[in-house]
Amino acid sequence: MIQTQLYIDGQWQSPIDHGTRAIVSPADESVIAQAAEATRADARLAIAAARKAFDGPWRQTTIRDRAKLLNRIAELIDRDAGKLAHLESLNTGKTLTESRTDMGDIAATFRYFAGLVASESGAVNEAPHHVISRTLREPVGVCGLITPWNYPLLQAAWKIAPALGAGNTVVIKPSNLTPLTTHHFTQLVAELDLPPGVFNLVTGGAEVGAELAESLDVDLVSFTGGAYAGESIMKAATGNFKRIGLELGGKNPNIVFADADLDAAVDYALNAAFFHAGQVCSAGSRLMVEDSIYDAFIGRLAERLPRIVIGNGFHGETQMGPVQSAQQHEKILGMVQAGIAEGARLVHGGKRPAGDVYKKGYWLEPTLLADVTAEMKIAKEEIFGPVITAERFRSEEEALRAANDTPYGLAAAVWTRDLDKANRMSRALRFGTVWVNDYHPYFPEAPWGGYKASGIGRELARIGLDEYTELKHSYINLAPKAMGWFGA
Ligand code: NAD
Repeated sequence: MIQTQLYIDGQWQSPIDHGTRAIVSPADESVIAQAAEATRADARLAIAAARKAFDGPWRQTTIRDRAKLLNRIAELIDRDAGKLAHLESLNTGKTLTESRTDMGDIAATFRYFAGLVASESGAVNEAPHHVISRTLREPVGVCGLITPWNYPLLQAAWKIAPALGAGNTVVIKPSNLTPLTTHHFTQLVAELDLPPGVFNLVTGGAEVGAELAESLDVDLVSFTGGAYAGESIMKAATGNFKRIGLELGGKNPNIVFADADLDAAVDYALNAAFFHAGQVCSAGSRLMVEDSIYDAFIGRLAERLPRIVIGNGFHGETQMGPVQSAQQHEKILGMVQAGIAEGARLVHGGKRPAGDVYKKGYWLEPTLLADVTAEMKIAKEEIFGPVITAERFRSEEEALRAANDTPYGLAAAVWTRDLDKANRMSRALRFGTVWVNDYHPYFPEAPWGGYKASGIGRELARIGLDEYTELKHSYINLAPKAMGWFGA
């Protein structure tokens, strides 16, 4: 049985009150680990250690040291990629193929930020010849990093790499449903020769996250998760006006025009919605199809859905695993029922699959709800499960209006062969990412984040590093003379 501990000030330790939490397999509800469950008191210790470390020798590290550190972490991720992928699938239920892809992306993220950090240099500003004026980037300080359960280590990497690369110290709190890969990652960091307190792990629930958001000793909090927790973090951050980064939920339209390559569009509609059983913040669960091809498109999806292989993520033939928790399972089924009650037509799914292997665990059939209209709750709220809701539209204007008519703004996709239309839609859609004739690709070089209620700030890309820095103007007068403004 896996047992996890906290990592504070360079030491593995149990929570002060010895709290533990059973970690359950979403595939069969068996207990797979006992994880340390911290409280606010543990979080305070970790924050104090990070504070002390920030003011210590860590501040003297050079960009070369930190770029080397990130590259070293990438090597260790590669070395342990098999173990990490196994743990991620065990804990989240996602297929091993998906977890392996995550580990590759995580190593790439560390390498990308290593390159970026190594290229950092301040700017020298134009100034009188007796003045040196520089614009410098400095670390923000102690960073509290809070991550969700759907992409536990990937979301952590998007935060840890730029935070450490910029010279900050870190307290990370993964979701208490999925702490296993972040715990293993911390074991990798512990192999390195980092000063104590630079990297701290505190596993626990909302109260630990709230402590990070409220603490006056935390200078930045970066959070990925739902709107409810995001709101409370934003409010708590006003205590010391700490920097905040919020990556929140989405309601992401996947818009198919009649002139699209329909073979590709049908295939990607499945990937957009059912990858990781739809538990992706950018999942294309809101399918919008042009009237003239709507019925045929729904027909083709209906034919594909029963062929999706649902099963244990460790089995080679599995295409879709379970959802992560009992709570999610119940919530998704509730949303499907609400959709049907509002008049949506259940084409496929909407229940636990039949068969003994699906009796335990959080299994759901891939679900298609057709004839959804923009006013329905299922067209507006994030479902976060394997459910496609399909709406019909009659014109580009109608599609655009309906797609933008949501509080969220994370990601959208458009399918068309008309480049002019593709460009018009890309510009007019109010979303942080707009794909054309594709779905889901993201990479470290491109920014990630949401418009409107999908968040504040961006991760990845140059801006993903800048978010972890303070900008300073350093002005040095080399030849001071009395100014005489107020006379002699
Ligand atoms: P959640 O909001 O329940 O929890 C996220 C994290 O916040 C967990 O570590 C949790 O313990 C912690 N937390 C909960 N309440 C808190 C509070 N009051 N103060 C501080 N911390 C608190 O989210 P979740 O259910 O783990 O994840 C699913 C959500 O995450 C979905 O809405 C999804 O869209 C979103 N998400 C967004 C992105 C993105 O890039 N925008 C990526 C992945 C997931």
